Amino acid sequence: MSKCSKCDADITFMSVLNSPNPLRLKCSNCKESIKIHSVTGGIAVAIIFALIGIVLYAFYGIEGFWLKVVLPVILVSEVGYFLLIKLGVVKISSN
Ligand SMILES: [Zn+2]
Repeated sequence: MSKCSKCDADITFMSVLNSPNPLRLKCSNCKESIKIHSVTGGIAVAIIFALIGIVLYAFYGIEGFWLKVVLPVILVSEVGYFLLIKLGVVKISSN
């Protein structure tokens, strides 16, 4: 399910991390672009961005904000999004 449609390689965390667009990943094996299902992916991205916004707003202005809040929040979001793809909650468009 969460595999590249061209070469059948598993989608790796790096392909999520390296993608500027969360709805269009690139296979780390064959470089084929992997389209994320727009509905499930869109909902997941919207929820993740909302959570990021809430957390950043809640901690805004504390000492070491970027290092202690922004960086970990972004990393956790990337991991979370990757897991949603792995678990098949966020689906991959098959075309
Ligand atoms: Zn591939």
